[in-house]
Amino acid sequence: MPNSYGIDIPTKVIFGPGRLRELGEISSGLGKKAFVIMDPFLRDSKIAGQVLDGLRKNGVKFKEWYDVVSNPRAETIDAAAELARTENCDHVVALGGGSSLDSAKAVCIVATNAGSSWDYTIREGTTVPEITHPVLPLLTIPTTAGTGSEVTPYAVVSNPKETMKATIADRRIFPAVSLVDPELHISKPKALTASTGLDAFAHAFEAFISIHSNPWTDTLALESIRLFARSIETCCSDGKNLEARVQMAESCYLAGIALGHIGVTLPHVIGQALGALKDAPHGAAVAAATVEVVRWTLPVASEKLAQVAAVLDPNVTKLPMEEQAARLPDILTSLYARIGVTDTFTTFGLTNEEVENLADVAFKAFERDVERHPKLATHSDVIDITRKCL
Ligand code: NAD
Repeated sequence: MPNSYGIDIPTKVIFGPGRLRELGEISSGLGKKAFVIMDPFLRDSKIAGQVLDGLRKNGVKFKEWYDVVSNPRAETIDAAAELARTENCDHVVALGGGSSLDSAKAVCIVATNAGSSWDYTIREGTTVPEITHPVLPLLTIPTTAGTGSEVTPYAVVSNPKETMKATIADRRIFPAVSLVDPELHISKPKALTASTGLDAFAHAFEAFISIHSNPWTDTLALESIRLFARSIETCCSDGKNLEARVQMAESCYLAGIALGHIGVTLPHVIGQALGALKDAPHGAAVAAATVEVVRWTLPVASEKLAQVAAVLDPNVTKLPMEEQAARLPDILTSLYARIGVTDTFTTFGLTNEEVENLADVAFKAFERDVERHPKLATHSDVIDITRKCL
């Protein structure tokens, strides 16, 4: 474990059921005209009405934009940034899932700087251009508990022309403020609740096992996994249970803070590459990779894998540490089944012939994430693991 690290959380987090009502006031502290990015599921909803009323009451002018797509595309983001610029918006308010929040982060850069959002992503063989003008300040309000984008300096952008997904990583896109209101998560259907919940788990898990983890991020990650274990099944079986939604939202942002400091490891590398090729739901794609990655990683990182197994299934604590760790793949498979996540890479449409292509995407866009994993994977390891996920 490294003994040299920094702690950097510039985002102010405002957490609690019902706190959406504070949005207008917070927005008025960030500027005079907001570019409001709203997830398409909110179009014509009561919530959208409340948001816009809140802005009006606080004297904030706005321009709305609802055209977010899942796994957001560079072209769409660039069109939004152009609109924000021509409308002279001086800050951005984003309400929605990770795709809306990530679109907003990229808009905050491109509205004031040259080029396309794709230019700012980190990819093998390219240099990220300098951000020369101040990035627009951002208020995020997540409607999913999964990505943790509300507290990270990352935005994931898709480029269907290149069949790639890549990440913008810059501390200037940390949201200025994030308003986390778990009441907004109640409308998530079961499958979305499960898939986004598993994404939050994956962030905590991967930050915890990363070679760069430290005692501070380990504390956040383990507490995040505890909250996840306590609440995910209730969130899925009884979506209106606010107490469970609160715990899952806490699990998500704690994991996000750990992720923002440590980054992800191999399950995300493979899951994100699948997302680039097949437009699969992010959390479920990562979950479909996690079990085989854990099997391949064992017995490396046994101590940490055992700790995670014990949080998810306290019955294993009687076993020796190596055995606890070895139980983790089965514990995960059984948890996935209980919350209805049974997709494999085949059901997402990946064929055996496309596996090498997936490994190429993984290394082109996410090589630095490969390097954080406790066991270093080669290109052919990624191919082998991916074949087992079919
Ligand atoms: P999403 O934003 O793509 O949303 C999925 C679907 O759920 C959409 O149709 C959306 O309209 C709908 N939806 C959102 N909230 C809802 C609600 N409360 N009720 C009903 N429907 C709702 O899904 P996501 O998993 O939140 O985000 C995935 C994206 O985030 C991917 O592009 C992924 O790569 C990225 N990501 C970013 C980070 C980061 O740190 N920035 C981390 C992980 C993943």
